[in-house]
Amino acid sequence: MVNRFHIPGIKNLSYRLIHGRCILCQTPSRRDIDLCHPCEIELPWLINQCSCCALPLPMNHIQNRCGRCLRKPPDFHQCIAALCYDFPVDRLIAGFKHQKKLHYGAVLSKLWLDHCRDQLGTLPDALIPVPMHWRRRLQRGFNQSIILANDFGNALNIPVHHAIKHPRATHSQQGLSAAARRKNLHHAFAFLANADIKGKHLAVIDDVVTTTATANTMAAILARNGATRIDIWCLARTP
Ligand SMILES: [Zn+2]
Ligand SMILES: [Zn+2]
Repeated sequence: MVNRFHIPGIKNLSYRLIHGRCILCQTPSRRDIDLCHPCEIELPWLINQCSCCALPLPMNHIQNRCGRCLRKPPDFHQCIAALCYDFPVDRLIAGFKHQKKLHYGAVLSKLWLDHCRDQLGTLPDALIPVPMHWRRRLQRGFNQSIILANDFGNALNIPVHHAIKHPRATHSQQGLSAAARRKNLHHAFAFLANADIKGKHLAVIDDVVTTTATANTMAAILARNGATRIDIWCLARTP
């Protein structure tokens, strides 16, 4: 919990008076994130992943790309993820998305920034959150990709552009095969004609990348409309 005090003459003085509790073990975290150090170390970090799509690879994998990216490179340049979508990250992301535990999202976005900042290289010109159909957003109350994009944008000083909308309702992607996901996404997304992305380097923001179907669909639309490079930034990658 962050307590902010205003003292006349001192602008934006903010400090943590009461430390929060670790969202995993409930002990006082004693740091600027509601996660204790031992629990952070124990998280399923991505250690050896495909340099293109971030798919976790076995430690003895010789190539730096997975078989699928070697056969057919995706429509995006690279996917940057911090964690494997494994216990307890799956529970944290589910709590963030489905139980409105926004402080879980804050912990996850801070972890992503702490661990991925050094891998980013040239920063993109804009961040593009994966859009959500209005009906789902109404049910959930928020779009988690917009929350993450705003966190990353504020920390890295990059504008957030809503260049793609989701006009057609789709069934949830959860539990669908790769082919079914592609079919589900066909025509689900639409480019906003007034979005200025020509010649720009963009990063698409998503919470989890599973089959890369959403990432590829978004990247293909952005490339078709003039973006020169599209990266994907996500919290977690499914093994
Ligand atoms: Zn803990
Ligand atoms: Zn790959």
